[in-house]
Amino acid sequence: YAKGQAGGTFREFEPSMNEQRIRARRLAVELKGAMERNELYFHYQPIFILGPLRVEAVEALLRWQHPEYGQVPPLEIVAVAEQHGLAEALNEWVLRGACRQLRDWHREGFEGLKVNVNISPNIFARGRLARVVSETLAQTGIDCHCLVLEITEDTSLWDTAASVDTLAELRRMGVGIALDDFGTGYSSFSHLRQLPVNKLKIDKSFIQDLPGDTRAVNMVSTIIALAHHLDMRVTAEGVEEPAQLAMLQSLGCDLFQGYYLARPAGIIEIRRLLEYPPALAELPSLLVAGAR
Ligand code: C2E
Ligand code: MG
Ligand code: MG
Ligand code: MG
Repeated sequence: YAKGQAGGTFREFEPSMNEQRIRARRLAVELKGAMERNELYFHYQPIFILGPLRVEAVEALLRWQHPEYGQVPPLEIVAVAEQHGLAEALNEWVLRGACRQLRDWHREGFEGLKVNVNISPNIFARGRLARVVSETLAQTGIDCHCLVLEITEDTSLWDTAASVDTLAELRRMGVGIALDDFGTGYSSFSHLRQLPVNKLKIDKSFIQDLPGDTRAVNMVSTIIALAHHLDMRVTAEGVEEPAQLAMLQSLGCDLFQGYYLARPAGIIEIRRLLEYPPALAELPSLLVAGAR
């Protein structure tokens, strides 16, 4: 189709498509090796509980510093893995890596700290997840209550009874299940009704419009009430401003995550933060005075 066009257009169009294809293929080929050589790693972002400020959990966020491409976005890594039959291997790598790090933190005296691990959805259908999780917990000696799996709402996943069974089995084991990015997926309400999840993370797009946007305030307030009626704990993600935190606090939100409180960071920084948790008063702006 580009044949009849001017050469300039052709040259501009063709290479970028090629580059993208080459990049995807190269990442796919190298991903397995990168896992084996531990070139993949995590940044961890604290999830806080308020009054006094305490780190309840850290979310493991995948990072890949590629020798040529630099940082590869985690969603691209996940997409590459899914397209090349590596989703299961990646999930297992992530699970094992995050649990090992948590075990180290527990040994360093931060007992009770939890880790949240993002699991790409379509693994549920394959039914191996519950076994892999129980093996990983056994190998690392981590209490099942210290592991939370974060899943996003993805239609490809939820139709199968096997997914629900897998989640139910994990819940029976005591593993936490969080519905991530809540409010942005498909048919959230039917998932809330059917899926055995005990945590809900409100997507950052809702949080960003707090506290000024009345509709956003009312929606977040309603989501929190709904979750509490269903015995679920609520995390707000993407908290970037003190006024958002104050508003969420007044709405009864349970847990808080976002750049305002702490950015994702490497293990050394996280250890320092666990050792010396910030006081609310030390954060950039005053909270106690309420939203401003
Ligand atoms: P997510 O699970 O919803 O993770 C939260 C994302 O929001 C992270 O982006 C985090 O760095 C970012 N974030 C945290 N606080 C703030 C804030 O205050 N403002 C804004 N604007 N952003 C904030 P990141 O690390 O780029 O990860 C993007 C997504 O990639 C994650 O979204 C998750 O869906 C996926 N992901 C990350 N690691 C893994 C993994 O190990 N496995 C799988 N399957 N997916 C992963
Ligand atoms: Mg997440
Ligand atoms: Mg999220
Ligand atoms: Mg997300």
